Amino acid sequence: MESKMMPLKRRGLLLILSSPSGAGKSTLTRNLVREDRGIRLSISVTTRHKRPSEINGVHYNFTDSVTDFEDMRDRGDLLEWAQVHGNYYGTPRKPVEQALARGEDVMFDIDWQGTKQIVEKMRADVVSVFILPPSMEELKARLERRAEDVPEVIARRLRNAREEIAQWESYDYVLVNDDLDRTFGDLKSILAAERLKRERQIDMGGFVDTLLAAAVE
Ligand code: 5GP
Repeated sequence: MESKMMPLKRRGLLLILSSPSGAGKSTLTRNLVREDRGIRLSISVTTRHKRPSEINGVHYNFTDSVTDFEDMRDRGDLLEWAQVHGNYYGTPRKPVEQALARGEDVMFDIDWQGTKQIVEKMRADVVSVFILPPSMEELKARLERRAEDVPEVIARRLRNAREEIAQWESYDYVLVNDDLDRTFGDLKSILAAERLKRERQIDMGGFVDTLLAAAVE
């Protein structure tokens, strides 16, 4: 006999991806939100200059004004913020809260400083993943291939990569991105398993009660 049951409600989760610049994190995040309707990407605010390929409102909300950024931060409009490679970056609080209230998951492409702040506020709902490059040579080659930053910016990002990589142990999962398709598959597996965790199944207790109350001979 076939039976149809209503989908059970689940607590939304916050999937955080961190890595040094050039480890492939942006491609992974973009591919995941394209493929999976249940997760949306948090769009950060930044004072960094826009790269030629970037679109305001899609990749970031760009602002030229450090004062505007600091006002937002001081008003409490940011869930977390940090200075990375000499620029301000922050996560607007409202869209995250609204997505979670709708039962959606939210994905973040943020650094270790921001991850720490979100973990402090919402530990139970956070799943954090660190992406490592296969080698420092490959990291440098990827930054140069991207060719969107001037050489001084690339050099600074490479220097900062060591500091970022040193944080890998505070993450729940670590992936070495030596093959984009495989890493993407691993990321999807992590998300699938985390979504099924017992403590995220809000309605499960009620469902089990109904199950046990049924009289079946
Ligand atoms: P990029 O300038 O290459 O786009 O980003 C530089 C670094 O800043 C990346 O490691 C990225 O994950 C991080 N980042 C981007 N947005 C945010 C944010 O809102 N908060 C924090 N803490 N880091 C961010």
